[in-house]
Amino acid sequence: MRRDIRIAVIGAGLGGMTTAGLLQRAGFKVQVFEQAAAFSRIGAGIHLSPNVMKVMRRLGIETTLTDIGLHPDAFVSRKWDTGEVLFELPFHPQNEAHFGAAYINVHRGDLHQVLESALDHGTVAFGHKLRAMEERHGIVHLAFENGAKAEADLVIGADGVNSRVREYLLGTEKPRYSGHVAHRAVFPAALLNGLPIRACTKWWGEGSHILVYYMTQAREEVYVVSSVPHREWTSPQSFLPCDRDAFIAAFDGYHPELQQVVAAAPEVTMWPVFDREPVDCWSRGNVVLLGDACHPLRPYMASGAAMAIEDGAVLARCLADIGHDDPATAFSWYAANRMPRTNKVQRISVANTWFRGPTDPDWLFCYDACAVPLLAPQEAPRELA
Ligand SMILES: Cc1cc2nc3c(=O)[nH]c(=O)nc-3n(C[C@H](O)[C@H](O)[C@H](O)COP(=O)(O)OP(=O)(O)OC[C@H]3O[C@@H](n4cnc5c(N)ncnc54)[C@H](O)[C@@H]3O)c2cc1C
Repeated sequence: MRRDIRIAVIGAGLGGMTTAGLLQRAGFKVQVFEQAAAFSRIGAGIHLSPNVMKVMRRLGIETTLTDIGLHPDAFVSRKWDTGEVLFELPFHPQNEAHFGAAYINVHRGDLHQVLESALDHGTVAFGHKLRAMEERHGIVHLAFENGAKAEADLVIGADGVNSRVREYLLGTEKPRYSGHVAHRAVFPAALLNGLPIRACTKWWGEGSHILVYYMTQAREEVYVVSSVPHREWTSPQSFLPCDRDAFIAAFDGYHPELQQVVAAAPEVTMWPVFDREPVDCWSRGNVVLLGDACHPLRPYMASGAAMAIEDGAVLARCLADIGHDDPATAFSWYAANRMPRTNKVQRISVANTWFRGPTDPDWLFCYDACAVPLLAPQEAPRELA
């Protein structure tokens, strides 16, 4: 693709930021439009698996992230009541070498800040909520709620589970509520009163689960994130504060060690878990989707952001190297190379079986979105086994 085309990315989430950074490195002009007025350090952690870290390497921020993030010695799955270890995946240097990068935990706010440092100054236009878009004669016209207008030759919809760009492409359809909410809490490790916890542990209950991990190298911040049944979600907000007693009660009967962690959280929020059925249309004309905008996933493999980031890496390669000046060809290669993988991740996320027992993570962690050979659409499988 010619490098002087104007590319607009809608949404400065992890997928949008990664895509913008990689496109800039390939020589494209990119503007990101984000509805929020600024980035905030919301209370949440995130796992960055080796497949993600390999993309961060190409953005030049892998070392910064490995310096600030916590390197868990293992991912540990434990049974909710007895604490029996169901599965343990060690992250020692040989395993890191095998996967091709480290596995780390970071604070999402810290990750965003590091990602922003990988972009050209002024790339993100904050306070720009996309209201409407229309493609005329190969140019996409964008209108924002603040009254601003913009034009682009290509638009990448990285605007998350309630994507406006997806609505433009596929019509209005609400995401599917899973019947579960996730509790999230971030608090100082000092509140554990010396209780030793493993760096990254998932406690598997019956119909519910909860993950506990440190988010920073210095182990001074703890993050817990759960999934528990919750009949309905009617709020238009993306999260609500959660009553602390109700949070503690949700883990009644769990192992005493986990109960002690839960009881230490001073403030808790509650997030609805949404997803959508896979679709096989990710683009039309000069507009394309990535990440949660096209395949929102339940967070039970900790891979929603990972898939958005990988999408961005493969899309950037397709735009740079495939299709000459025809976006439709680049987009068809992109979708054909990504859909089998995102469909598989979605299937396992819905089943919530990842790491519950012995699991071979190679197909997920060894993948390098920046180097994997790209297959022509007629050669790509529809779904990975
Ligand atoms: C409880 C929970 C825990 C999770 N844990 C993990 C984990 O450990 N690892 C992992 O890989 N994934 C995890 N995920 C999934 C992950 O958060 C998402 O899959 C990921 O953030 C998707 O990235 P994205 O860039 O596609 O969308 P988002 O991160 O949702 O970003 C979309 C951006 O677009 C902006 N936007 C939206 N609409 C507009 C508009 N109209 N105009 C302009 N801007 C707009 C939004 O403000 C936002 O900044 C978790 C999810 C949940 C709910």
